[in-house]
Amino acid sequence: MPKVPFVNFPAQFEEERAELIPLLEEVFRRGDFVGGAAVEALEQDLAEYLGVPYVVALNSGTDALILGLKALEIGPGDEVITPPNSFVASAAAIVAVGAKPVFADVQADQNIDPAAVAAAITPNTRAIMPVHIAGRPADMMAILALAERYNLAVIEDAAQSIGTRLNGRMTGTFGQVGCFSGHPLKNLNAAGDAGFLATTDAAIARQVRLLRNHGMVDRNTVVTWGTVSRLDTLQAVLLQFRLKRLDGVIARRRANAAHYAAQLDSRAVIPVGLPGAFETFHLLVVQVDRRDELQTYLQDEGIQTAIHYPVPIHLQPVAAEYGYRLGSFPICEQQANRILSLPIHHFLTKSQIDWVSDRISTFYDR
Ligand SMILES: *Cc1c(COP(=O)(O)O)cnc(C)c1O
Repeated sequence: MPKVPFVNFPAQFEEERAELIPLLEEVFRRGDFVGGAAVEALEQDLAEYLGVPYVVALNSGTDALILGLKALEIGPGDEVITPPNSFVASAAAIVAVGAKPVFADVQADQNIDPAAVAAAITPNTRAIMPVHIAGRPADMMAILALAERYNLAVIEDAAQSIGTRLNGRMTGTFGQVGCFSGHPLKNLNAAGDAGFLATTDAAIARQVRLLRNHGMVDRNTVVTWGTVSRLDTLQAVLLQFRLKRLDGVIARRRANAAHYAAQLDSRAVIPVGLPGAFETFHLLVVQVDRRDELQTYLQDEGIQTAIHYPVPIHLQPVAAEYGYRLGSFPICEQQANRILSLPIHHFLTKSQIDWVSDRISTFYDR
């Protein structure tokens, strides 16, 4: 393992093992591997944590986005506005339901710029899909105001932002639909693919429950064409177990971020979030000059870093059909060349952070 790894799954497992293993064994003894009481219990705990009436557990965050869009009846001919600096899943979900992704540039904090959203609205716009990037809340007050004014749905990509709040309210609970991921790399992580959708709308919850299980209301009656996106019971048990520890994980990540903020060289810029933001640091993304050189230097020093994401979605080969080009979203593109995600996981020590900070200063002072 590198001296400062980007993630530390063995440490997470060792911390949990004694309490966790009996819970998993129980699933094997009961033999209810798909759905069942454990999944419902997780949904209830998540609903309580988020402060929403309905949570539907699904197979992935991507499916939460796709089934959420479907439940909002978004499809061919519709446009959905989303930022170009996200993981590809955000735009891919829009394409998966037959709609068109329309990108809007981001602000200095890497979140979608409400003014750019306003400028991207056309008569075909049906929804706005903000992404709370890195666990930092997007400007939901401005986005909700636009949605109200133009009668648009809001579907939040909260895959990176469980526990993130803005003015005391959880991200993923501002719009009609909030989409979360339980992917192993996310702050609330399963041991495989997992996701869930939060909503305040009973009809949306009902529809997504149908869609995730082939549109079956019972064993023998199919009322809509659906798909399979059920959450495995083992993953549900694991996520329920980890949800109890999530606030502790977030506290450790926030403490790490605060320590970085105090130690880091001013040549590594941490963008400032909105007033009223409670950030959860799924990622700690700094913006730096000579990013690629710095990344290689840190790699040689045993410090693992990552780039989320080096090629914006509008510049991916697959997006060519939409006619964007270099220069379409200058702020996103400039950031794509400068962003670097430093290790922030909850097993990082203060001395490791000091050392990363020290290496960054050394790199620029050489
Ligand atoms: C991880 C992620 C997703 C997709 O979640 P999966 O569970 O991997 O399908 C969607 N959007 C963003 C911003 C993500 O980071």
